[in-house]
Amino acid sequence: MADLDEVKRQIEKLREQINYHNYRYYVLDSPEISDAEYDELMRQLRELEAKYPQFITPDSPTQRVGAAPVEAFGVVEHPQPLLSLANAFDDDDLEAWYRRAVDLLGGRKFDFVCELKIDGLAVALTYVDGLLEVGATRGDGYRGENITQNLRTIKSIPLSVPRDKAPSRFEVRGEVYMPKAGFKKLNQEREKEGLPLFANPRNAAAGSVRQLDPRVTAQRPLDIFIYGLGWAEGGRVPDTHWEILQYLKTLGFKINPNVRRCDTIAEVRDYYRHWVEYRETLPYDVDGVVVKINPIAYQVELGYVGREPRWAIAYKFPATQATTRLIDIGINVGRTGSLNPYAILEPVQVGGVTVKSAALHNEEDIHRKDIRIGDWVIVQRAGEVIPEVVGPVVSRRTGAEKIFRMPDKCPVCGAEVIKPEGEAMHRCTNAACPAQALERIKHFVSRGAMDIEGIGEKLAQALFESGLVKDVGDIYYLTREQLLRLERMGEKSVSNILKSIENSKDRPLARVIFALGITHVGEETAELLAEHFHSVDELAKATRE
Ligand SMILES: [Zn+2]
Repeated sequence: MADLDEVKRQIEKLREQINYHNYRYYVLDSPEISDAEYDELMRQLRELEAKYPQFITPDSPTQRVGAAPVEAFGVVEHPQPLLSLANAFDDDDLEAWYRRAVDLLGGRKFDFVCELKIDGLAVALTYVDGLLEVGATRGDGYRGENITQNLRTIKSIPLSVPRDKAPSRFEVRGEVYMPKAGFKKLNQEREKEGLPLFANPRNAAAGSVRQLDPRVTAQRPLDIFIYGLGWAEGGRVPDTHWEILQYLKTLGFKINPNVRRCDTIAEVRDYYRHWVEYRETLPYDVDGVVVKINPIAYQVELGYVGREPRWAIAYKFPATQATTRLIDIGINVGRTGSLNPYAILEPVQVGGVTVKSAALHNEEDIHRKDIRIGDWVIVQRAGEVIPEVVGPVVSRRTGAEKIFRMPDKCPVCGAEVIKPEGEAMHRCTNAACPAQALERIKHFVSRGAMDIEGIGEKLAQALFESGLVKDVGDIYYLTREQLLRLERMGEKSVSNILKSIENSKDRPLARVIFALGITHVGEETAELLAEHFHSVDELAKATRE
């Protein structure tokens, strides 16, 4: 039998190494080892823990994803409420807030800490004796939801902190967010699988941490910035907010690198102006700057007015919303036959860009928001996200507005439209629907699918309209002569197209299955199907299971 003490030491050493590399990777963003080396460490730890389960501890890196889904979220009472901040919308608001603080403090001098206001979901993390015990949403500020199991899956949240440095009980507060790149990828995957899209990274982050199954949360690209200490017992903590942030950093928490200490309100304004200009360069969404008075003693003295602290204010960035008329609701027919409604708008400037159309997700969503044709609507544009209709301006209704109904016939082919039980989208039932066929061809040649470089969206459309390619299979029967007859097509480009078609024949089966664009089959399912069936013929013969 193995020496148990030795096994325990080995397990602890592996955990220490993994935690260190996690910290390098997720918090500092500067890994020291390759993913493969990291995976190997995790594999060794898992193997040892499987053999010696008596040594599994709740803060082991293997325990981030809970085994079973949580039934429902419990309620967490916040010992210190998580209140929202008062807003400033211009320099006058900021100045008024500052003057009030100066008056209340009897002219004593103070400095500020400026932080970016991350557009995410506020959470509170409680640590007891060095271990993450509870993670909760803000909720109404006094009571939040217990989402500990889900927050544990976010790798930049330490499951444990150095016990010798941390107070015995304390709570940190932070903002869980989804980086823009991760959001974009998630929505692309959802689109391919025919699932409803998230409107923006904040919605996606909020939806992800409130999943009943932590395994779903674990797959979402979530991250966190810690922005403060809620409360602490049993241990000394620094007496300015700035030093607290530095201190939390030494405990392993991820602090936003753009926080700044400012001596004067003029510096605060400069910080704000800088980020109004550069906000789009950040890899995550921010909607303003939070300004806090630095000395904790002054914060305590200033206290609260109503439900808002007097010692902090959120200076919001200029609006990315505008109001315009909803002229009509159009319908696009997608690759899988889904009828996708979109808003046709009277052109309007939003955040420096002219917006003429905007996303409307499905009929239910339109009715839930009570959007009617002819309404004045609020349009929002955030970052690179497709503009969306937030809702109607009900007070401007004349009574002439019309309630939208999904057509019962496909607007492209006239076939019957159905709404499958439990699905949000209406679908055209005609497998030969030209709109679907064209979208299928576009999908088939796209980069994630067969990656036929020579055929872009425009050529796909031309091939379809000329009747040369009625379905994806026809691509492989295209001849040099046929292609040359198309408009603006030279010898050289035809050769390239034929070559890229030829190359695509080597794609692995999983790519082919994905490229065929079966409803609900995304890249992952395609991999699974490819493992199970060995050829397209075999798959075609399989029954629906
Ligand atoms: Zn149709």
